[in-house]
Amino acid sequence: MIRKGVGWILAFALLVVLFTYESPDRSSWMAWSLPLTGTVIAIDPGHGGKDGGAISSTGDVVEKEVTLAISMYLRDFLQQSGAFVIMTREEDKDLASPEADLAKRRKAEDIRNRVKLVNDSSPDLLVSIHVNSIPSPKWSGAQTFYSPTFKKSAEVSYLIQDEIKRVLGNTDRVPSKTNNVFLIREVNCPAVLVEVGFVSNTEEAKRLQSQEYQKAMANAIYQGILRQYSGEKVPMTP
Ligand SMILES: [Zn+2]
Repeated sequence: MIRKGVGWILAFALLVVLFTYESPDRSSWMAWSLPLTGTVIAIDPGHGGKDGGAISSTGDVVEKEVTLAISMYLRDFLQQSGAFVIMTREEDKDLASPEADLAKRRKAEDIRNRVKLVNDSSPDLLVSIHVNSIPSPKWSGAQTFYSPTFKKSAEVSYLIQDEIKRVLGNTDRVPSKTNNVFLIREVNCPAVLVEVGFVSNTEEAKRLQSQEYQKAMANAIYQGILRQYSGEKVPMTP
């Protein structure tokens, strides 16, 4: 009986200790347990403002809107996993100065300012989001591009493409290396560009407009990034 009493007192004391000492640490414990804590990720929603980017033949699916919507979903996923997220834009604007009037000059200034904004924040990764368009309506499917400067760019691009295939199930495209995209080539960090689909394909243009599809695409990109930061070994570098 006495033993039992001692047991209860010990149990009670243990509970007091747990509540006293665990609670203040809980928030930091939670922060440490998030998979992307301490990671800085830059997201670049392509185009914006006067620069609409590619447009569907019906005129109602505009690249700058699709890229921003997917980027905002991606931002939320990454923040929920503890990442610190830098956005090159969060509204319908480009990054050119108001004085830049000619479209060509605006474009050049816009892209230089995106590079500067990304480099000033020294992120661990840049993900630029764009929508593809070609004259023929028959091509579809999202594809990830990477700059060869950093090995990590190829790895994360492989994992993102793998997740796009798995989550969306509508493409067998493979990641592609490129030196021709100014932004991902000029930044001082691993960088990928995701062409989230072809607005020139009628069916895909419709999908790109749907919130459900935009969220699924953001989720696929997010899952690829998570796999990269979980330390997964990439079986083959594309
Ligand atoms: Zn674009």
